[in-house]
Amino acid sequence: MRHIAVIGSGPAGYYSAEALQKLYGAAVRIDMIDRMPVPYGLIRFGVAPDHQSIKAVSRRYEKVALSDNVRFCGNVLVGRDVTVPELTGLYDAVILATGAPDDAPLEIEGGGLPGVIGSAAFVGWYNGHPEFAGLAPPLDVAAAAVIGNGNVALDVARILSKTPAEFVGSDIVAHAFGALGNSSIRTIHVLGRRGPHQIAMTPKELGELGHLQGAVPRVDPDDFPPLLDDALLEPGQRKSVTHLRHFAALEASKARTILFDFFAKPVRIEGAGKVERLIVEKTRLDDKGAAVGTGETYQIDCGLIVTCIGYKTPPIEGVPYEEDRGRFANADGVIGGGLYAVGWARRGPSGTIGTNRPDGYEVADRIAADLASVAGRKAGRDGLDALLAARGVDVVTFQDWQRIEAAEAARARKGSPREKFVAIEEMLGARKG
Ligand code: NAP
Repeated sequence: MRHIAVIGSGPAGYYSAEALQKLYGAAVRIDMIDRMPVPYGLIRFGVAPDHQSIKAVSRRYEKVALSDNVRFCGNVLVGRDVTVPELTGLYDAVILATGAPDDAPLEIEGGGLPGVIGSAAFVGWYNGHPEFAGLAPPLDVAAAAVIGNGNVALDVARILSKTPAEFVGSDIVAHAFGALGNSSIRTIHVLGRRGPHQIAMTPKELGELGHLQGAVPRVDPDDFPPLLDDALLEPGQRKSVTHLRHFAALEASKARTILFDFFAKPVRIEGAGKVERLIVEKTRLDDKGAAVGTGETYQIDCGLIVTCIGYKTPPIEGVPYEEDRGRFANADGVIGGGLYAVGWARRGPSGTIGTNRPDGYEVADRIAADLASVAGRKAGRDGLDALLAARGVDVVTFQDWQRIEAAEAARARKGSPREKFVAIEEMLGARKG
């Protein structure tokens, strides 16, 4: 029998568990440890609430979770309730699937002013993450700036633009639904430090902006390279740029406008005690495609700035960490000493949910190879249970989660799949059914 601990129950964690099950069959016991009392990580707290079809992948993870040799241990924080050396002592292998939940900082003057919010916090707020439920972003302002040209920037711009009717069928939490319904924001600037050909957005997600009920996306036609250059792009990127060219032909005919500011590098944030304006330097591309400042600046008046410029994995004491890349130091997922990393904790914050699947399968193969000549004598879950019980840790099981899930469904707004509990105590209380 092999005992394996997976820390984190998001996509990377579940694909690893699935792969280990396929590899070892009944000869493995997998414990999935999560600091939250609820599973699925990024699927619950990151994927946009109006993208329910993406969230549906959790049904696949549920199948893994309900199998005999997989167990969910929620409400257990590694580093507080149990340490990594304790886990490597108890399990044959420990997989870090902790994602990248911390914002990469925007290191410019004024970056700490109230009203400057990282996307982890902003997305966590509208997705009901307990740490960010009390965020109260300033929405009583006329304009917002969203910094970054990736899919997270698109999510944030879209959520800021939608009418209440467009949230029907989503699981946006009540506090965000109410606040966004009362928002005064009319202009949403989306800033890219490079140009339309360099965006990191995907075509399906970008195309959605063209179909909003109450908002129109707009692009300055002067920001495009010659039309013929689009042929040099790979097909997905060409599709995205075609959307942008279409946006450039639209009129500002709706209550809200999403304005793409390309070649726009944020240099300073100003305001008396809170964000009032963003100072931006115009850029151009150098011969390597990097943004270089032109010295020409302009100002965007705005009361909210959401930075969507990437994420970092929080370090865990004793685990080697690459500061510059914001992830665990690893070679193809192997950290050493019985420790492995998958998903964003391994690669950094890139790729879609499906990108984590090969990661999970690869790490399972590496573990099997590493353990091939090692006798299986670890205590596994019995050891963990004894340790957590001695420390009085209130462990949430998958069956507990199913009761929480049922309670969230039972209190959903009409047309919504669930109304999430946003406080840990509420989640724990709902276990009783
Ligand atoms: P991302 O795709 O890496 O985009 C980050 C953006 O931030 C880039 O445009 C980058 O510009 C910009 N940036 C970085 N540092 C900056 C700075 N200091 N100042 C100004 N701009 C800066 O990251 P993401 O949007 O956070 O998304 C993370 C991953 O999740 C991606 O793989 C994404 O596709 C995925 N995701 C997918 C979906 C979906 O499929 N629906 C939704 C959300 C997220 P440069 O290119 O110039 O560096």
